[in-house]
Amino acid sequence: MPVPDGGDALVVLRGVDKHFGTLHVLRSIDLTVHRGEVVVVVGPSGSGKSTLCRAINRLETVDAGEIVVDGRPLPAEGRELAALRADVGMVFQSFNLFAHKTVLGNVTLGQVKVRKKDRKEAEERARALLDRVGVASQADKYPAQLSGGQQQRVAIARALAMEPKVMLFDEPTSALDPEMINEVLEVMRQLARDGMTMVVVTHEMGFARSAAHRVVFMADGSIVEATTPEEFFTAPRSERAKDFLSKIL
Ligand code: ADP
Ligand code: MG
Repeated sequence: MPVPDGGDALVVLRGVDKHFGTLHVLRSIDLTVHRGEVVVVVGPSGSGKSTLCRAINRLETVDAGEIVVDGRPLPAEGRELAALRADVGMVFQSFNLFAHKTVLGNVTLGQVKVRKKDRKEAEERARALLDRVGVASQADKYPAQLSGGQQQRVAIARALAMEPKVMLFDEPTSALDPEMINEVLEVMRQLARDGMTMVVVTHEMGFARSAAHRVVFMADGSIVEATTPEEFFTAPRSERAKDFLSKIL
């Protein structure tokens, strides 16, 4: 897919470094995600992919460098931080729904608490989003009554309810049974087609090939390659990427 025209920089990382004790998990990361762009991040386990995502919405602090989301520099505190988190939607491997709230309640809560919408308006929007991800009929159930694929689609609806400017997905299908992976990827593909800016960490190479504008390959805390899916999958430049692809394809 061609990178959308005229997409300006929405998420910018410059020289980002992060250590956990003596472990150097992000090494001088430079990455710009443009509005409307889908960036798929791949790489071996432990290469820093999750830490990168978590740094973008400040679930992790960084030691050095700059992270700017829609012109708002990190670190943000207090009100600024809440605003930033609302702008950056995140979907995790484990669905992280509120177990004691219904599906509808899950998708309504943040709109009322953070976006200060009135309940009726929030519920209407929640129902529309549940419909969009194909689980409208599950609105009054509790998360535990849903399949993993349905729960993950609710988690996507919940993130979308906050009207984020960018969506981060950290291995959203890794905890799912195989037959449920596609229903979640299809929702993500549709979101991409609708022009959402997305950063997606995944091992689903079919998704990377078909939905990504750009593939970013990480190894040992560094971005080793950042290129089109065609080039990455057919002509990887680095030995690390060749080795990675030979193991997973
Ligand atoms: P990936 O998502 O690519 O598998 P992560 O970003 O989760 O990689 O982790 C990168 C490295 O940082 C790994 O070696 C991991 O063990 C380590 N790590 C991640 N989170 C923490 C933490 N909170 N404390 C210490 N080490 C961590
Ligand atoms: Mg991870």
